[in-house]
Amino acid sequence: MRKLGTLGVITAFVLGVSGPVAAQSLDRLAKAMGADKVKTVHIKGSGFYYHLGGSSLANEPWPKFNLKAYGFTANYETASAVIDLTLTQFLNPPRGAGFQPIRGELKRRARISGDVGWGINRRGRTQASRSKAPAIHALWTSPHGVIKAAQAAGARVTVHRSKGQNFYHVNFAKAGAFKARAHFGPDGLLRKVTARLANEVLGDMRAVTTYSDYKTVDGITFPMRMTLSYGPYPVLDVRYSDVKFNLPADIKPPKGLKPRRQRVKADKVADGIWYLTGGSHHSVAIEMADHVIVYEAPLNAARGEAVIAAVKKTIPGKPIRTVINSHHHFDHSGGLRAFAAEGATIVTHRTNKPFFVKAYAAPRTIRPDRMAREGRMATFLGVGRKHVISDGTRRIELYALIGNPHSESNLIAVLPKERIMLVADAYSGRQFAKKPVPKNRVNPTRAHLWRTLVRLGIDKRVDTVLPIHGRKSNLQQIRWSAGVK
Ligand SMILES: [Zn+2]
Repeated sequence: MRKLGTLGVITAFVLGVSGPVAAQSLDRLAKAMGADKVKTVHIKGSGFYYHLGGSSLANEPWPKFNLKAYGFTANYETASAVIDLTLTQFLNPPRGAGFQPIRGELKRRARISGDVGWGINRRGRTQASRSKAPAIHALWTSPHGVIKAAQAAGARVTVHRSKGQNFYHVNFAKAGAFKARAHFGPDGLLRKVTARLANEVLGDMRAVTTYSDYKTVDGITFPMRMTLSYGPYPVLDVRYSDVKFNLPADIKPPKGLKPRRQRVKADKVADGIWYLTGGSHHSVAIEMADHVIVYEAPLNAARGEAVIAAVKKTIPGKPIRTVINSHHHFDHSGGLRAFAAEGATIVTHRTNKPFFVKAYAAPRTIRPDRMAREGRMATFLGVGRKHVISDGTRRIELYALIGNPHSESNLIAVLPKERIMLVADAYSGRQFAKKPVPKNRVNPTRAHLWRTLVRLGIDKRVDTVLPIHGRKSNLQQIRWSAGVK
């Protein structure tokens, strides 16, 4: 039994020794935070943003961007939120994902209303969210969101004593999105929220939000600084410059918002080579003598499963034994586990292997996928600068784009007999040029790709290019994208 005799200056929250306490203490935390007075909040700020799962090498932190403007609006009565990020280029030279180098500004816009999530992409198009979990997490781990979510869940407060002071913990969850523990200080103010958030690559991904620099705004005590980390690295570091309570916030899903469906179109490019398109990220199926190899398993489990179904329909009777991961960026690796569950070996650059092994060992309790449900383990083959796959009838050469700013471990695939190259992100078939890009507009990632192709003599051995983004292209387009005549 701890000694409770001389407590000194303890706030009105003194409730005794560690252990669960009555629900009324949640109301006291709510009072300390002024939550009963808050229906909506509008926040503006600035700081830094970091792109989850987008480092150049798998063991590096998520790449950093200037967060020129941060906008967050929450309506707790309608369970809705708007998150607007205005980014500018930070890293010089550019390194990693996130459409670097950003020329001017890039906007990232996410919205949630009840269980409908949507976003507005960088071209201004409104689309249903691929994953609603981050926006749901942002809404209910905001300072007053925590209280409201905990109250709605009938959560209990646990008291923990440390250095003679009482600290308060509240556990709550939003099914399918996250589980969290909120940490309140002796003053009853929210300091930290530790959560597990569903992520396609990292599983139950650790997400830690911190709040500090409390000020009184309109009679309500509110933090002016927040940080958020996903996995081991930061994703947000924001200083609030403007906080307003209870302004109107009418956040409704746009009319005619279509749910995301996985369409996969199989186009035959050469004998036994199929370009599997139909979404933002493509795959390529390569028919071998007695099995199939798939290059790229992007996005998420749903995309992975849709691509697998398309392969089985297009090339019936042959198992998918190998899936080649171009690079570890989460939008290019989120579907790998669906292939692993199918029994395919994951071929990836050797620097990615320890990253994936660790990520796949994490629990997946929030949104279990097929691998987690079936208790399967993935098999990896880590490759180096060059790796050849051949069964006597077909040859696939993999080359790592060592030194490429976008991803140093990116694997391109060359099919020498068919004179076809497969490439993700280092070149994109979204834009088609009519002449070489002016030197001062050349993306360093494209320039590096072209130099590598020339150095390895691949430019002499390839005509057709199947990019993972955009549409079927050719070698001249890669050369022009690098500003070479
Ligand atoms: Zn990438």
